[in-house]
Amino acid sequence: MPDIGFAKCDPAAEPQPAARASVAAFDFIVIGSGPSGRRAAVQAAKLGKSVLVVEKGRRVGGVSVHTGTIPSKTLRETVLNLTGWRERGFYGRAYRVKKDIEARDLMARLHMTLDHEVDVLEHQFARNSVSSACGTARFIDPHHVAVTTEIGETKLFAGEKFLIAVGTRPHRPAHVPFDGCSVLDSDEIVEIKRLPRSLTVIGAGVIGVEYATIFSALDVSVSLVEARPGILEFVDHELVRTSYTSCATAASPCGSAPRSSGSNSSTAGRSRLWRAAGGCVPRCCSIAPGATAGPICSTSPRVASPPMDAVA
Ligand SMILES: Cc1cc2nc3c(=O)[nH]c(=O)nc-3n(C[C@H](O)[C@H](O)[C@H](O)COP(=O)(O)OP(=O)(O)OC[C@H]3O[C@@H](n4cnc5c(N)ncnc54)[C@H](O)[C@@H]3O)c2cc1C
Repeated sequence: MPDIGFAKCDPAAEPQPAARASVAAFDFIVIGSGPSGRRAAVQAAKLGKSVLVVEKGRRVGGVSVHTGTIPSKTLRETVLNLTGWRERGFYGRAYRVKKDIEARDLMARLHMTLDHEVDVLEHQFARNSVSSACGTARFIDPHHVAVTTEIGETKLFAGEKFLIAVGTRPHRPAHVPFDGCSVLDSDEIVEIKRLPRSLTVIGAGVIGVEYATIFSALDVSVSLVEARPGILEFVDHELVRTSYTSCATAASPCGSAPRSSGSNSSTAGRSRLWRAAGGCVPRCCSIAPGATAGPICSTSPRVASPPMDAVA
């Protein structure tokens, strides 16, 4: 992959018109190397355009490769594999492929997979003569971007057309005391140093349910907190109900829990499953500290996790 070097300059100084005349120019500049950016870049290159991809992360790939799709799917497969989850129906619930699974077992496979993905991407850029620059892009005018590296070097690039494909990042409300250790966002969870004994997942969307089921399969006690009345409302209701039904079967008896708005620990929510029409809807009533008031969907490792194949 042709890599564009950086000239030393003062990042605070606005580039002068004369300096702009001498910058490297491209037909198409893509900001962000996630799935959308890289596909657009490669496609434009295939159509004969000169293309530059600017990425502020250390390596190309975006959320999809480094913190999102591929890491979560790799963790999921690693956990299914090491825990022997798929064979438990045959050998029994106590069956494990590896007895003491540690965070480093998960991380080893994760990093191997991610390195491979980055290699594939870099090779794809090289094959299609897509240039790349590492740094944070900002527009100077409609046809120029300044790209600043982590160490403060800045370089200008000129572009005929631009694609802004800068993606998303986890929402981090100011009142939540993120510390990268016991309170983590979904980017940080893929870098944990040790497995927790218990975990409360705030938000039962796709990502929340995915991580809840992954950690649950690792015998971590998991509580899933959701402010909305149900989980995965956009998913086929029959599928979701099946997940609940399986938890109803496993968590016996499935009694109703009182509604309250106090705080609770993740383990307290474990047995609080509430039977509702159509299955066992785990709507517990306590609320984790700092979370928006609402029901807790609780899963415990062996008894109440929704089947992973059904939700992830
Ligand atoms: C935990 C998790 C699991 C997921 N699982 C799935 C899944 O199973 N299936 C699925 O389809 N989707 C999944 N997603 C969503 C998927 O990862 C995103 O939809 C996808 O990555 C979005 O791609 P993108 O190219 O728009 O942006 P991103 O992948 O976010 O890439 C944007 C890039 O732009 C860079 N950037 C930002 N600002 C600048 C700047 N100023 N200068 C230079 N670079 C910049 C960022 O560093 C980043 O690398 C998941 C997401 C998460 C978080």
